[in-house]
Amino acid sequence: MVGRISILFFVVTLGLSGVRADERVLPLATLQKMGYRPFNSFPHYRGQRQVRSELPTGLKWPVQFVDAARNIAQNYVNFQQYGGGLPYYHKGCDLRSPPNSIVKAPVTGVLEGGYYSYTDNPDGSEIKHWIPWNGKTHSDPYFELAVVTPDGYRFEMHHVDSMNLPKETIQALNKGNVVVQEGTAIGTVIPWGRDYDHIHYNIFRQDGVIVNPEAYTVSPADHIAPKIQAVYGVRADGSVIEMTNGGTVGPLQQIIVATTETRDNSIYVQTPPYIGIQFQTREMFAWDFRKVLMGPDAKWPDIRQVFVARFKTPNGKVLTTSGQYGKGLFLMRLPVPAASGPFVIAVSDTAGNTTKFSGIFHRSQKEPVF
Ligand SMILES: [Zn+2]
Repeated sequence: MVGRISILFFVVTLGLSGVRADERVLPLATLQKMGYRPFNSFPHYRGQRQVRSELPTGLKWPVQFVDAARNIAQNYVNFQQYGGGLPYYHKGCDLRSPPNSIVKAPVTGVLEGGYYSYTDNPDGSEIKHWIPWNGKTHSDPYFELAVVTPDGYRFEMHHVDSMNLPKETIQALNKGNVVVQEGTAIGTVIPWGRDYDHIHYNIFRQDGVIVNPEAYTVSPADHIAPKIQAVYGVRADGSVIEMTNGGTVGPLQQIIVATTETRDNSIYVQTPPYIGIQFQTREMFAWDFRKVLMGPDAKWPDIRQVFVARFKTPNGKVLTTSGQYGKGLFLMRLPVPAASGPFVIAVSDTAGNTTKFSGIFHRSQKEPVF
C-alpha cells in the first residue's frame, strides 16, 4: 500500500508534461484513493464565519527573499492553467526563497499541518482536500503549515519540507491546538529546483474569502505601473478591433486588455489586481482585487468572466493568457457599461501604480466612428 501511494504521488506530482504544477490538482477519485478528504469536513475548518475584524497592515513575510530580482514570483490573482486542466486563480503569493531556508510564523496563532491537494471548478474556484497531521510524513512538496489567528484568519505556507520539520513543530502538531508566536521558525523551504524554490503563501479571511497578502505585508519596492500591451474591442457579432489610445470606437460589447504587472528589478510578470473602465458620465465597471478576491457584486469572480483564455487578434495572431511560474500575458475582460462619451481604462497594482488608456465611445451606429 505504501509503495503504491508513493508511486501515485510521484506520477501525479510531475504530471504528463514532466513539469510540476505549482499546486496539485487531481480528480476527486484519485484524491480519495490517496486518503484525502474535503478540507471543510474537518473540525478546525473556519470558513463561512462572519468577518469580525480587519487584518493589520505591515505584516512580515514568512521567508527571506532570494534577492531583489526574485521575490514575489506570482501574485494571488495570477491565472493558472497546467497541462490542459481547468484555469484557476493562484490564490496566494509565490515567495521565492533559497531551498532549505527558514519559514517563520507570519502571525501568532494555532499551528496546523497537513498534506493538501485540490479539485477544480469551472469558475476558477477550488475545493481543497486534506490529510491532517497524523505524525507520519512522506516526501511530498504539497505539504502545508498554517497559522490560524485567534480571530480566525488562516495563513498558509505551502511547500514546507515535511521531512525536515523542527522538533518543536512536530511536538506542537502532535499535541494539537498549540499557539506559536509570530517570528517562530516553524519549518524550511522544500527544494523545488528550476530556480523556483518558494513558499506558496495564502491568507484566508474568517469567511473563507481569499485575501491579497501584498496588501497587508511590507512588500518589496514596486514603482513600476502595469503595462497595457494592447486593448481590443469585441463587437456584438464577435468581431474584434484593436483600439488606439485616444481613439474613438463604435458599439462594443466588451473590451479585452492585454496586460502584465511587474515590480522593481523583478524577473517575473503577473496579473494586475485592478482593472476598470470609467466614463466621464461616471458609469463604470472594475475588477478590484487589491484587497480580496471578490467581484463587484461581492461574490466569487468567475475566472471565465475575468480572463479570456485565448483569442485571435484582428491581424490573425492568437494570444493566450498564461501565468505559470511568473511568465506570460494576461487577457483581462471588461464588460462595457451602458454609457457613451469619453472613458478611461485604468490598470493598477497593489502598490498604487496605474497605467491609463483613454478613448471616446459611441454607442449609436449613426454617430461617426473613426
Ligand atoms: Zn504558488
